[in-house]
Amino acid sequence: MTLQLHISVPAWHTRAACAKTEDKEVFFPTGNSPNQRAAKRICERCPRSVRAQCLVEAMTRDEQFGVWGGLSRGERVRLAKKFKQEPPVSAKEAA
Ligand code: SF4
Repeated sequence: MTLQLHISVPAWHTRAACAKTEDKEVFFPTGNSPNQRAAKRICERCPRSVRAQCLVEAMTRDEQFGVWGGLSRGERVRLAKKFKQEPPVSAKEAA
């Protein structure tokens, strides 16, 4: 019996800076270790649109661990609270 898995990877993943790094473990450090800063430095090299999509994906599924879109879990929680208190203005409202 053969099991076939079809996993779709969003297109933005192929442009991600972390996709080109060998040390993926820096994205899932424990505590506020220097590795978290290493991950954030890699995120700074990521294209802005990719970084935004990465952050949205992590926040949409309430990702519990790791650095996503350049933000730690704690930073994402604070950002989500801020959006709840003060929802971002949509492009339509801003026009
Ligand atoms: S922003 Fe997301 S996709 Fe880009 S390097 Fe950081 S974790 Fe990877």
